[in-house]
Amino acid sequence: MVNVLKEATNFTQLLNTAEQVRLENLGNIVYLRGLIEFSNYCSQDCYYCGIRKSNHRLKRYHLTKEEIINLAHIAYKNGYQSIALQAGEISSEKEVNFLADLIKEIKDITPPDSLSLGITLSTGELSYQQYKKLRDAGAHRYLLRIETSNEDLFTSIHPPPQSFKKRLECLYALKDLDYQVGTGVMVGLPQQTYEDLANDLLFFQEFGIDMIGLGPYIPHAATPLAIKGVNENMDSYTSTLKMLALTRIIMPDINIVASTALQTINPLGLEAGIKAGANIVMPVLTPEAVRGKYSLYNNKSYTPLIELANRIANINYEVGLWTLGDSPYYFFRTGLQNT
Ligand code: SF4
Repeated sequence: MVNVLKEATNFTQLLNTAEQVRLENLGNIVYLRGLIEFSNYCSQDCYYCGIRKSNHRLKRYHLTKEEIINLAHIAYKNGYQSIALQAGEISSEKEVNFLADLIKEIKDITPPDSLSLGITLSTGELSYQQYKKLRDAGAHRYLLRIETSNEDLFTSIHPPPQSFKKRLECLYALKDLDYQVGTGVMVGLPQQTYEDLANDLLFFQEFGIDMIGLGPYIPHAATPLAIKGVNENMDSYTSTLKMLALTRIIMPDINIVASTALQTINPLGLEAGIKAGANIVMPVLTPEAVRGKYSLYNNKSYTPLIELANRIANINYEVGLWTLGDSPYYFFRTGLQNT
């Protein structure tokens, strides 16, 4: 895999193979996760992230429960069937309880006898009991990116007390609680090698990950890592597409997101990501008034749903409305029934 990642030859062939694998295993449907970035407060200080707690220039916001539920209604009425609740890392029990209550209310907004909204969470490293509380409340997917499977590289981009060991423990806790577990990496980090990326792929496979969200590393000017610039030895856009394609080939029935970061660094990143094997897109539902404040990296792109749907149709794929689009691999891995 290292050679495939490193070399420019056979790029088209790699993408074509990934697309074929995807069509044979999952068909041409692209599922939606309405993304609600409900708060940009974060208790962590990752060196690469624009909403890190030490970025004092950033204005912080937190949507109210009513605002979030209203967005969930909008998602449901438009046929999304799944939402993703994302925020900086939450740290207090009060915030976990807020989220648990919110999840229960969102599960109740759909009429009785109809499929309730699927809920993906992405709120960082929590304790086992906190993950359990949120799972019991009704969340069934959790996205926690490992960012890199190279422990030294991980340590160089995360200040203490964050640790690679803790990140892994969290992923195992999520798996133990029967979440659909999502992870992912940044591609093109300073000091990252093609060997690291190949090991990331092996990590996904060996862990038995159900969902992948990977994207190019885009520096944010207000972060310490931005000083190091980008990885001069790696084209992060092409390498991300190769990573998507290889992930799809080695893990044919997992869910893979066409990341916003890919769409940010190339205007055709959405189409390219889908054709490389991605089957999930996450249209942003965060209110326009605060969207710019969820600034993980610079110049983040936003594509309205109607435009997304047209662009997806133009490459002969179809948006999957009123359906959860869960990871088939999850049901294979757990033996649970896909309802
Ligand atoms: S990557 Fe996540 S945990 Fe780290 S600073 Fe950003 S939002 Fe917080």
